[in-house]
Amino acid sequence: MTTTQLSLEEIYLIALKALKAAGADEHNASAVADIVMKAERDGSHSHGLFRMPGYVASLQSGKVNGQANPELHVRTPVVLHCDGDLGYAPLAHQRSLGKLAKAATSNGVATLSITRTHHFAALWPETEALAEQGLVAITCVSYLPNVAPFGSHEKLFGTNPIAFAWPRPNDSPVVFDMATAAMAMGDVQIAARDGKTVPEGTGLNADGNETTDAAEIIKGMLLPFGGYKGSHIAMMIELLAGPLVGETTSFRSQKRDSGDGGPPRGGQFILAINPELLSAGNWHDEGEAFLDRLSGLDGTRLPGKRRYQNRLNLGPREINTELLKKIGVAV
Ligand code: NDP
Repeated sequence: MTTTQLSLEEIYLIALKALKAAGADEHNASAVADIVMKAERDGSHSHGLFRMPGYVASLQSGKVNGQANPELHVRTPVVLHCDGDLGYAPLAHQRSLGKLAKAATSNGVATLSITRTHHFAALWPETEALAEQGLVAITCVSYLPNVAPFGSHEKLFGTNPIAFAWPRPNDSPVVFDMATAAMAMGDVQIAARDGKTVPEGTGLNADGNETTDAAEIIKGMLLPFGGYKGSHIAMMIELLAGPLVGETTSFRSQKRDSGDGGPPRGGQFILAINPELLSAGNWHDEGEAFLDRLSGLDGTRLPGKRRYQNRLNLGPREINTELLKKIGVAV
């Protein structure tokens, strides 16, 4: 694989230009380009420039509204809703996460439901932003059905990521962000592109047989992580990010999707909790003692550390040259 070195600013500008050329206005394009740049900065490669062809395809097909004007509705002091106006999710986040943080800080807990949105990014930016304001946060989204529920050979669940963040007053938040599929589809696609195999238990071929061939899994289906237990978490995410917020689950999202390669329309569930109010001020010492113990065990590291480490590097990033050509960058 040949790579090209690009600064973070160049990555942002490449994404911005491609999104604008595909019909996004400045607000929508810059919100997505910022998320794409941050994914590359943190080493979340499957959600950086790798996603640009999909972002562009859905703008060009007209499925995603490049002029989206997401609107926040405060249904009660703790139940917030954002209508994504069929745009990409990052602009809806920019316009609603601050209000969610204020509502949770004042009231102890608050939810944000986002509907009519297209989420194609990692989830850590949402939970990390809330934890940086002293809140515990959980979010999830569903996707297109790519994952067979435990025991089945039929796709029903999306790769359904869930992210959690815990604030640390003197350190970066602890954040985990993971697909509930054994492997995120973006990583399977990258393995297929690079001719690599994937671990056993990642997925099945189109006939429902186990395979480690990434290209066969793309034609077939992924499996949930952790057998029936992971399968139930994927089910929970379908319900939280679908019916609970007033949106569809993965298999019904697919029915109205054009299949243009970009993300389907769906929903997002976000919960923010103020630990000061819930614990009456007792969360910090106990939480820190636990996290110190956990991170001190041989062989462990806290989730999020790898990204924070990558973030310290302000230098250029190695980007796949073929991908850049696909995005229309002269290299
Ligand atoms: P990974 O399996 O790479 O990582 C999952 C989590 O575990 C991360 O928080 C990671 O932290 C942590 N972690 C990884 N390795 C270790 C380790 N050795 N010790 C301790 N912690 C570890 O993520 P996935 O492949 O499951 O998901 C990738 C991304 O795909 C996510 O950002 C997800 O949101 C996104 N996604 C988005 C979808 C969408 O529709 N928008 C659909 C599906 C997935 P760290 O980051 O520090 O490595």
